[in-house]
Amino acid sequence: MQIVILGAGYAGLRTAIDLDRLLRQRGRDDEVILVDQHPYHQLIQVIHLAATDAIPDKKAIYELAPLLCNSTVRLEQGRVTRIEPLERQVRFEDGRSLAYDRLAITLGAETSYAGVAGAREHTLPLHTFEHALRLRDHVVQQFAAAAQERDPKQQRILQTIAIVGGGYTGCQLAGELVTWADDLCRDSGAPRSEVRVALIERSNYLLPQFGDWATQAAELVLDRQGVSVYRNTLVEAVEPRMLHIQGERVLRAATIVWAAGIAGPELLAASGLAVEEHGRVMVDRYLRVHDQALIFAAGDCAAVPNSLDGGTVPATASYAMRQGAHLATTLLAEVEGRAPRSYEPLRLGELVSLGPHYAVGNPLGLPMTGYPALWMKKSVEQYYRSILEEAQK
Ligand SMILES: Cc1cc2nc3c(=O)[nH]c(=O)nc-3n(C[C@H](O)[C@H](O)[C@H](O)COP(=O)(O)OP(=O)(O)OC[C@H]3O[C@@H](n4cnc5c(N)ncnc54)[C@H](O)[C@@H]3O)c2cc1C
Repeated sequence: MQIVILGAGYAGLRTAIDLDRLLRQRGRDDEVILVDQHPYHQLIQVIHLAATDAIPDKKAIYELAPLLCNSTVRLEQGRVTRIEPLERQVRFEDGRSLAYDRLAITLGAETSYAGVAGAREHTLPLHTFEHALRLRDHVVQQFAAAAQERDPKQQRILQTIAIVGGGYTGCQLAGELVTWADDLCRDSGAPRSEVRVALIERSNYLLPQFGDWATQAAELVLDRQGVSVYRNTLVEAVEPRMLHIQGERVLRAATIVWAAGIAGPELLAASGLAVEEHGRVMVDRYLRVHDQALIFAAGDCAAVPNSLDGGTVPATASYAMRQGAHLATTLLAEVEGRAPRSYEPLRLGELVSLGPHYAVGNPLGLPMTGYPALWMKKSVEQYYRSILEEAQK
């Protein structure tokens, strides 16, 4: 059989490596092909650190070829534009096609602009390593321009950074940006007094996945570091360097980051697959795509039923990885003609950093803040890096 996995992120890389190992252990020679648009695996969990110069680029991406050197997984680089379920083909941007017997979709998510006028055109997303580099360059340029600017009003706009969305992307980025601003001002000569980092959230909550306590903890920490947090604040439209906020207010900022939501990749709906309201492909508890016998999906691109609460599983790297591992066993069962096991999510909790010295989270369901949470978050990240580095040997 030819098994094609689309996307070498947290879910897809894990699926490919685990499936390859399971197949070889059984002496099978089915082909596993891992497709990605990039030659590298991105640690999206840390791209806000790359965006703010807190880590070197090489700590945010790992070349895929060395990661697969101990496996028989075939790597195929290219941007997928369409899936043809009836023909069992994947189409690429450059006109190539790839046939499959079984397909695993692990393409991650895209930024959702939720129909806000001008948001797509006039804001910067933060969802990939490339986005992180673009954001970093942009901020450096604005601070360099501010250092040359003589008009204090313009100077302030150049040094204002607005982040729309108080989820883990927005909160983590805000915490790093205020710290990075010290270095930026020192290096560029721009005045530190004119730096403003605004975090804007439409709901009453920051980090809503943790509950009320996390809103208070995150707001306190971010505020103490100099982030202006605006909750219950709805952005209605965006123009160049300007946010229009409900109540006829405006905020002028030379850098506007859109971190207000994610959606499934548009190619899924365009390929005729069943998607839900956020464009994520709908799967059953075996991770099989609705109405598709041969196609499976996992990670952020999939709406995976959550048996723990009746909703869908959160879009996080830890869930994506565990789904990837499960998908490998499902695909093995397919190859061997056995019934697969259902995917049962484990509630292990999440951890979110708020700048270089603080984190909040709920590991194993227990609320945790401060240095212990940060230590635990760094340890989890380091553990993942050690797995990747081990695979390269
Ligand atoms: C700033 C930020 C911070 C985060 N922090 C945390 C955190 O602290 N903890 C946590 O658990 N989660 C965190 N997350 C969420 C986490 O990163 C995602 O849940 C995780 O990346 C999802 O994994 P995935 O495998 O589904 O998709 P991804 O990791 O996004 O992988 C998708 C892959 O598909 C490839 N791809 C996409 N489209 C195409 C195409 N058309 N053709 C070919 N290849 C394609 C991409 O290049 C990528 O390699 C964070 C996210 C962000 C943005």
